[in-house]
Amino acid sequence: MTVRVRFAPSPTGMFHVGGARSALQNWIYAKQQGGVFVLRIEDTDAARNKPEWTEGILSALDWIGISRGSYEGPYFQSANAGEHRAAAARLYDSGRAYYCDCTREDVQARTGSQYQGYDGYHRDRGLGPGPGHALRFRTPDEGTTVVVDLIRGEPTFENKLIEDFVIARGDGSPVFLLANVVDDMTMGITHVIRAEEHLPNTPKQQLLWEALGVKPPIWAHVPVVVNEKRQKLSKRRDKVALEAYRDEGYLAGAMRNYLMLLGWAPSGDREIVPWSVIEDEFRLDEVNLSSAFFDEKKLRAFNGEYIRALPVAEFIDACQPWLTGTGTIAPPPWQSEEFDADAFAAVAPLAQTRIAVLSEIVPNVDFLFLASPLIDEAAWTKTMKDGSAELLDDAVAAFEALESWDAESLKSTLEAVGAERGLKLGKTQAPVRVAVTGRTVGLPLFESLEVLGRERTLTRMRAARLRLV
Ligand code: GLU
Repeated sequence: MTVRVRFAPSPTGMFHVGGARSALQNWIYAKQQGGVFVLRIEDTDAARNKPEWTEGILSALDWIGISRGSYEGPYFQSANAGEHRAAAARLYDSGRAYYCDCTREDVQARTGSQYQGYDGYHRDRGLGPGPGHALRFRTPDEGTTVVVDLIRGEPTFENKLIEDFVIARGDGSPVFLLANVVDDMTMGITHVIRAEEHLPNTPKQQLLWEALGVKPPIWAHVPVVVNEKRQKLSKRRDKVALEAYRDEGYLAGAMRNYLMLLGWAPSGDREIVPWSVIEDEFRLDEVNLSSAFFDEKKLRAFNGEYIRALPVAEFIDACQPWLTGTGTIAPPPWQSEEFDADAFAAVAPLAQTRIAVLSEIVPNVDFLFLASPLIDEAAWTKTMKDGSAELLDDAVAAFEALESWDAESLKSTLEAVGAERGLKLGKTQAPVRVAVTGRTVGLPLFESLEVLGRERTLTRMRAARLRLV
């Protein structure tokens, strides 16, 4: 039997990191089993779906390594509407489903003030189809439904506790529970790997498989991803969009490595490992049952390590979208003709060891390309103290006298200027840094000055000096 798994997102918003994790788990499982990964877009909720969300899913999957053309699909659930209706009709014809026109209020009036689920009122009343008549599945009165779950063992559900649930609405349209099952059936899905939040649906869905006469799949319900307060990640509260991480400059490799560590770890106390190791070692049945904390700080640190591991040329390439501004990435503060690729290449190795996400490249190098630096006023006020004007005067004079404009000479020269005042290098270089780069932190100063060049450095120092009059 060929293993067939599917990833079945609903295109109702930005693509969620939790979804990316499920997709990767499905992807790896299929690969390990020599199986097939199917992508199905569950687009039946017409009011909430937008084509751009579908495009977002496809491109986010592509970015994370599940590339277009390397899987089966995408299929669209809406294209399968005929099958969904046919399945509903089969269940009705075989007596496994019946019509009901009760409102919630009707049920409540019959059973007491609190709605505890449907009471089975129409089970044997023979109501036929008609507008406003929902179709309900007749759940067994006795016995249990045992689902085989690769992560959870065999969760067992008492059938008598499962209400006769709706499978098609009053307008005849099948609901998610049924459409999802029928699609999995039609697509020959053998393993359903999905988020834990669907576990309550699973006994109902398994009953539908059985009632439709097909052997149910093996399930795997993966624990949810939570924030630092142990709340389920939510798109209203947390940064969850994979695209947002991508645009901030997370590397796909770091992201997918990190996502796979949510609830699982490779052997040997390692966290940062080549993707091939994850593909070899990952085991669904080793996934932790407790919810997994999505720790953005840790992801940042991870990403920094991935950035540092890149060959410099690749790092330079990887920075390009932020240096030019493409697609959803904002343009940098300089004009494209101001950009100097050689100057960038000269400082790139210095930046590479310091930034955690690629977008941070921009504030680190903007001083090189802008005609005058973007002065951070708070940094200016904090740094420019009594004596800064004189210090800048002396530094300008000493730099003007330099024969060779290189980092080492610049450093020893400024060190000497500071020493005359009894200042350590750190204190001496702060006003120079703010004057030249506009900021208190950044790339190593003397290398920066070397690349910026004599004229521009001195012009900026003189301009700062004038502001201090
Ligand atoms: N469209 C559903 C979701 O995004 C899929 C559920 C499933 O994987 O079965 O939650």
